[in-house]
Amino acid sequence: MAAAHPFSLAPSEEQLEVARWVHEFAERVVRPAGREWDEREETPWPILEEAARIGLYSLDFTANAFADGTGLTLAMASEELAWGDAGIALAILGSGLAVSAIFASGTDEQRAEWLPQCYGTPGDLKLAAFAVSEPNAGSDVSSLRTTARYDEAKDEWVLNGTKTWITNGGLANLHVVVAQVDPELGSRGHASFVVPEGTPGLSQGRKFQKLGIRASHTAEVLLDDCRVPGSCLLGGKERLDARLARARSGEPTRTQAAMTTFEASRPYIGAQAVGIARAAYEYALEYAKDRVQFGRPIIENQAIAFTLADMKTRLDAARLLVWRAAWMGRTGQRFAAAEGSQSKLFASEVAVWVAERAVQILGGAGYVRDAPVERWYRDSKIYTIFEGTSEIQRLIISRAISGRHIN
Ligand SMILES: Cc1cc2nc3c(=O)[nH]c(=O)nc-3n(C[C@H](O)[C@H](O)[C@H](O)COP(=O)(O)OP(=O)(O)OC[C@H]3O[C@@H](n4cnc5c(N)ncnc54)[C@H](O)[C@@H]3O)c2cc1C
Repeated sequence: MAAAHPFSLAPSEEQLEVARWVHEFAERVVRPAGREWDEREETPWPILEEAARIGLYSLDFTANAFADGTGLTLAMASEELAWGDAGIALAILGSGLAVSAIFASGTDEQRAEWLPQCYGTPGDLKLAAFAVSEPNAGSDVSSLRTTARYDEAKDEWVLNGTKTWITNGGLANLHVVVAQVDPELGSRGHASFVVPEGTPGLSQGRKFQKLGIRASHTAEVLLDDCRVPGSCLLGGKERLDARLARARSGEPTRTQAAMTTFEASRPYIGAQAVGIARAAYEYALEYAKDRVQFGRPIIENQAIAFTLADMKTRLDAARLLVWRAAWMGRTGQRFAAAEGSQSKLFASEVAVWVAERAVQILGGAGYVRDAPVERWYRDSKIYTIFEGTSEIQRLIISRAISGRHIN
């Protein structure tokens, strides 16, 4: 049987060119700004502006990266940005979650209307947020309590509820909110709504102070009789009604919108984790060559050299899993063994492990803010938590490989 896609692990010249371009920005602009914005715990607007000015924070860049038929361009770009600084990378990439949701569930008209509004233009930047998680619905997305009630007379949807841990929450110009339209159907009764800029009834609740990725804004989003036009239901009413009717009759329905969005984005989250791991590994390698104790560079001790060998091996293995999942997603392969989840699980745990080892290799210098390694250690941890915790990834993988309902 002829292979549809000849096997190669060599990125194309175009992919390498994008990676080099993002790397240059990460090295020149992002890396030097990492510490400042970590300490300020604020969205780094000047950096976002610069990213927009060069075309990196833009719908064009995202659309072109998505259009790469191998899925690698976005993975490579995400790794480079996070190599610069993960908090700033998330500030730049955070709008992408809402973009994916609109792209996955919206009609052509909705995509054309809303996608440009997720980014804005240089000098008039916009942010977007994707709000699923709630105080009582984190890993258990089926327990969402935010409701969307249809007001037929006005052709409006009325949203009520509290969302929490939302990247760009409340600060965003556009929110995509996942809500329950029929509580009896559990997760099959979910639908996604665009809440445009300035809609009364949406407000920011608490802003969270975090362990890491502190340049990325995370907050509660409160929805209090928040009314949006019927046209803000992603996919449209007809499609929703048909899906609800199938769910009520017990017929299988398409995987629910939020889960689809998360699954598609997992390798790209893994790619960011690889970026942190690579940054920490490179820093530790150079440090170990320079730092002299007992009359020789510490790298000349196997304890240090072998640790670096393991760091490099795991980080390369993580990237291969990320690339495989990105490629599978983009070329429409079936994730029979939850390969998207495998990539996110492995890459995130590798990032935490590698960053922790880097702190150890630097000794006291790894524990203080003069070097970025302590920040990378803090930043890495979120990757085992958001977009599905490590336990949830293992649940998804074990169910996929066993065909059993593992609890
Ligand atoms: C910085 C940050 C940014 C975020 N951004 C967004 C965003 O933009 N949009 C959004 O919608 N959400 C966002 N989240 C939410 C994130 O996706 C959730 O925090 C995550 O899904 C986990 O939910 P939880 O925090 O409620 O933990 P819980 O679900 O309460 O889990 C607590 C612990 O129990 C474990 N656990 C739960 N169920 C099981 C089980 N069945 N088997 C074994 N272990 C289990 C978990 O793995 C975890 O260790 C963000 C979170 C953070 C911290």
